[in-house]
Amino acid sequence: MTPPDPEALRDRALRALHRCGAQLPGSGDLVARTPITDTPLAEVPVSCAADVEAALAAAAHTFRDWRSTPAPVRGATVRRLGELLAEHKSDLAELVTLEAGKIESEALGEVQEMIDVCDFAVGLSRQLYGVTMASERPGHRLSETWHPLGVVAVVSAFNFPVAVWSWNTAIALVCGDTVLWKPSERTPLTATACAALLARAARETGAPEAVHQLLYGGTDIGEVLVDDPRVALVSATGSVAMGRAVAPRVAARFGRCLLELGGNNGAVVAPSADLDLAVRGIVFSAAGTAGQRCTTLRRLIVHSSVVDEVVDRIAAAYRSLRVGDPFAPGVLVGPLIDAGAHRAMTAALDTARADGGEVVCGGQRIGEIGYYVTPALVRMPEQTEIVRTETFAPILYVLTYEEFDEAIALHNAVPQGLSSSIFTTDQREAERFLSADGSDCGIANVNIGTSGAEIGGAFGGEKETGGGRESGSDSWKAYMRRATNTVNYSDELPLAQGVEFG
Ligand code: NAD
Repeated sequence: MTPPDPEALRDRALRALHRCGAQLPGSGDLVARTPITDTPLAEVPVSCAADVEAALAAAAHTFRDWRSTPAPVRGATVRRLGELLAEHKSDLAELVTLEAGKIESEALGEVQEMIDVCDFAVGLSRQLYGVTMASERPGHRLSETWHPLGVVAVVSAFNFPVAVWSWNTAIALVCGDTVLWKPSERTPLTATACAALLARAARETGAPEAVHQLLYGGTDIGEVLVDDPRVALVSATGSVAMGRAVAPRVAARFGRCLLELGGNNGAVVAPSADLDLAVRGIVFSAAGTAGQRCTTLRRLIVHSSVVDEVVDRIAAAYRSLRVGDPFAPGVLVGPLIDAGAHRAMTAALDTARADGGEVVCGGQRIGEIGYYVTPALVRMPEQTEIVRTETFAPILYVLTYEEFDEAIALHNAVPQGLSSSIFTTDQREAERFLSADGSDCGIANVNIGTSGAEIGGAFGGEKETGGGRESGSDSWKAYMRRATNTVNYSDELPLAQGVEFG
């Protein structure tokens, strides 16, 4: 593969930013790099303490007006954002490819997800409904109302540099919250472009400037947001280690947390599975995005009667995957994000071998510029510690089962609980997988892979994945506070539970 010219990539990034109407806020300590060539794209300044304080104060102040703006009017700002995202879809996708290394089609898909969630949020802006319950007292009405929550801090990961921001921001804005975004330190340019488009949407629809603000930096800036009592909700997406650090700090001040953490997603392949379909679903989920999705398929639990065939077919598909420059047509697997990711992959494969695993194919680095690897397929004798660990790289471990109960037990015997799937044409197995004693994950699929969720459903996972839910369904409730209201329209004052008081 001929490596692209780093200078040309830098130009590409600056031109895409320019087309989005975004300006880099001067040079500084935060170096945006591209994993395509593992070279710098641009520099941005890390937000200083005074910037963070000013942003927090402005967000808290603006919230007081924004919360009283009618929700459908707030929705108009999000509608305009969605239009601008659609207009700049290819510019934003280009930045996603440059900073996160996704192939073009996946980068375009990520931007489409932002547009979709804006549509969803605009509809929601007319449906932030409460319920009315039957009161036990005559002449009383009992109901629930939902109110804006406050300042929402969005801390996001590198691998979905824009979609996760939009899941949070579009919904939080229609819910009447103001948003402070601290994107991954590895994707500041994509964030700059999105923030510029939202600022334009706010200007054009008369929303206050500080409904959304961007802060650049790493853990330090994240920690300030985590600890500040003006932040009502910390919505943090990233590794389990990050969630472990964030959750107790937010809890210590009785703030709210919405955690979207690591996954270690498994799929069961039953003897009745349609293997043509299963292999396609498995290969996309395991090797797509170079194994760098939270929902990437990492564990395959295959019935012994079909395991050899499944392994052979996946290995054949893996050998035909083109790995390389994510902008190049026909390439399906781009680079790992950095050298650390490559080291983690190599170490995991060494440990798997030491545990008795057989690397059937993959795991080799291609070239010396950027960290491009062939997706690895590894047969394991049992589910050892390394299989129970999320390695953020394309490694698919294959385990074998005899009885269906054993498959479910293996599937659930990991600390994470994000996404899962079963490939079967046996309806009993499919229903069992989706039942209370089936998959213990936040996402459970039948005859599709573990990755590639639609925005309409609530997205998130259980156990060490953090329990948060974002995007569709009733996830909006995480961004609002609930009040229970009792109205007495009688001229008596009966007490609940029949209590008599004088
Ligand atoms: P990461 O944990 O290194 O960083 C994520 C974000 O958290 C970054 O913005 C980082 O600056 C910030 N951060 C880190 N430590 C912090 C702290 N102590 N306080 C405040 N902020 C802190 O994750 P990453 O490498 O960018 O992303 C990959 C990880 O994210 C994987 O584990 C992946 O599974 C997970 N992820 C989960 C989801 C999900 O929806 N469940 C989605 C995308 C990624």
